[in-house]
Amino acid sequence: MCLSFRKLSVLLSVPMALAGCVTGSGMSDAPQPLTLALSHSADRELTAEYRLREAVTALHFLQHLGGYRAEVWKPIDSAFRWVKEGDGERVERTDGRPFQNVTFTIFIDYRALPKSYAPFSPFSQGGALVHSGQFQACTAAPCAKPGPLPISIDAPGEIVGVEGRRTQDRDRFVSTDDGTNIFIGTLEPVNADGFVAIIDPGLPVAARQRLDLSLPRAIQDLAAIYGPLSFKPELYVSIDEEPEEGGRISTQGGTLPRQIFMHFDGENAKERVGADKPFWLDWFFAHEAAHLFQQDKSGKLVGEDRVAWMHEGGADAMAALTMVRRGAAERDYALNRKREAEAACAAGLATTPLSRASAEAKFDLHYQCGLIMWLALDQDLRTAGKDGLADLNRALFAEVRSGKPWSESQFFQLAGELGVSSSLMTAVKTLAGGNSRDAIDALDVAGKLAERSLEPE
Ligand SMILES: [Zn+2]
Repeated sequence: MCLSFRKLSVLLSVPMALAGCVTGSGMSDAPQPLTLALSHSADRELTAEYRLREAVTALHFLQHLGGYRAEVWKPIDSAFRWVKEGDGERVERTDGRPFQNVTFTIFIDYRALPKSYAPFSPFSQGGALVHSGQFQACTAAPCAKPGPLPISIDAPGEIVGVEGRRTQDRDRFVSTDDGTNIFIGTLEPVNADGFVAIIDPGLPVAARQRLDLSLPRAIQDLAAIYGPLSFKPELYVSIDEEPEEGGRISTQGGTLPRQIFMHFDGENAKERVGADKPFWLDWFFAHEAAHLFQQDKSGKLVGEDRVAWMHEGGADAMAALTMVRRGAAERDYALNRKREAEAACAAGLATTPLSRASAEAKFDLHYQCGLIMWLALDQDLRTAGKDGLADLNRALFAEVRSGKPWSESQFFQLAGELGVSSSLMTAVKTLAGGNSRDAIDALDVAGKLAERSLEPE
């Protein structure tokens, strides 16, 4: 899932609950009520044609996206209009009559959206990533969970990359759950050890070289602990210096099943890539790689918002421990991140208990407090002669793979069985579910252990 770049961006995008299932999906034989044909019809333009098996009076979309679709997805037939519908939206005919077909032309541009990955991440020299999840729709309201959407993609003279395949001119697949990124363009992948990378040639050379090393290293480091991934991950890094409307700049990154991606958008995008030494890129890739391991090893979608400290804090702690093994400068960086996280966690908990952080739009607390909680557990378990956080993760992944829930109660039970001390157990439970004042006291206990977890052995 996501990491937002607080220091580097003016406009933040913090996607949530976008971790997806790990299985691939072929084109189903059963006819679906709704299908979509995408075609790369002109430079920076996509045509999207929805076809319905039976006529409906509206197509419903889960999220409203701040009015983005009404602005950018232009129906070819002016008899259609967009209408906001609760948190979502629908497209319908102005005369209310049923239809079996609706086609849009869509300008391919990056758009930073609240709580959601951008529909397009353009590359500087042509081509783009298309996030299929933004195209999934329901044939009836309420649209709580759009069904599988068969999508055909037509891109004459280009490569279509989806589900780990690269196909000339066209391909098709079924978009499910949170969807996936489809690559359309001519860029050749760097076929590095264990993963496929498409990195924008418009990136500064130093940043490209860093990227070439950073993700494989994170994957190798985590594979040494948890075993290899069962698939070959894809990495997409894109940059587009064309300013967005209003001059906004944005940096967004995240994971979807089998994929890690990041996009730098707007003015000074190149400078932002190189900002803050390269360690933040290493941390970013280690964090996102950790999500790939969480998903692959537990065999499930993990990522319920309310207990996001489990997967976001866990991924940050895995990143921190990966960094400290690399050298003194990396260790200093990780220690600094830990101290900043602890201070931010304390400040946030003063007004918002962690259990309400998601509901109160303070999602960052899950990273900040979660990092401290996991590192403290790591240190405590190592004192007890265990392999720290790695043992806890292995146990959790195995339980979830066997059908148990990815839940706090499951987590606490496993931590207890592994031998976490009762004092830390109380502190972590208080941090997860206690009131603000008690949680801040508990953070003090956990913070000291977390600090030791990053110190040299
Ligand atoms: Zn994440």
